[in-house]
Amino acid sequence: HLVIAGLRKGFADTQVLGGIDLQVDAGEFIALVGPSGCGKSTLLRIIAGLESADSGTLTLDGQDLTGLGTADRNIAMVFQSYALYPHLTAGQNMAVPLMMRRLSALARLPFVGAMVRGRAAVLSAIRAEVNQMAETLKIAHLLARKPGQMSGGQRQRVALGRAMVRRPALFLMDEPLSNLDANLRVHARGEIVEMHRRSGVPTLYVTHDQAEALSMADRVAVMIGGAVLQIAPPREIYDNPTHIEVARFIGQPQ
Ligand code: ATP
Ligand code: MG
Repeated sequence: HLVIAGLRKGFADTQVLGGIDLQVDAGEFIALVGPSGCGKSTLLRIIAGLESADSGTLTLDGQDLTGLGTADRNIAMVFQSYALYPHLTAGQNMAVPLMMRRLSALARLPFVGAMVRGRAAVLSAIRAEVNQMAETLKIAHLLARKPGQMSGGQRQRVALGRAMVRRPALFLMDEPLSNLDANLRVHARGEIVEMHRRSGVPTLYVTHDQAEALSMADRVAVMIGGAVLQIAPPREIYDNPTHIEVARFIGQPQ
């Protein structure tokens, strides 16, 4: 589980995160909502290690993340653009994160023979894991296609597959559905929740769509003015907003 305490971050003369406290428990799905520009993406980027905090602490399953590079954090992140490799098939896209990890470990083996034999075994294990994840996400029929030959919804599922196949300790998603049309979006919500239940990977999910947050999350975190003002199950946020700013934000028409 992820524990964030007193996290602060500013750019030049503006303080964006003014002391964020937030916890994502094991197996939990948290939706992070807040006005545009309040720092949601910045927070995710800091958790992923793409940006550094000015102060505060971040721990994942008891391990201090400070000073760990992105590659050493075992955190998967999906953005709205998906960023699939355009020249690779869906199956190859899903294999890349596993190959990066495992083949670099092999390169440290002392004997070339062991490395070559190891490589074949690693590649066939990776193929099996990609196939299994593709079955789970119902994208097995897409594995041979390149991103240009898939719909937005299909690309999104492949991007999720690529993130999940690594079995991350934490899943970060930044508005992953915002490029999809309304129909696909509702369908995709269900798929993400389903995938979350099956994998049990704790998830922090940023969305500007309140209906999405309410229908998907175990708890909703409302971030306003650089702090998480309230974090509670969706019903409770609606029934008992603890701050006037939360009530205003949740109550506004979308
Ligand atoms: P949205 O809902 O529109 O995606 P957000 O909550 O994700 O917004 P961020 O992208 O985290 O907001 O940005 C928070 C603030 O920090 C904004 O005012 C933004 O302009 C500023 N900001 C973000 N990244 C940088 C940067 N690299 N340099 C300077 N300012 C930045
Ligand atoms: Mg953002």
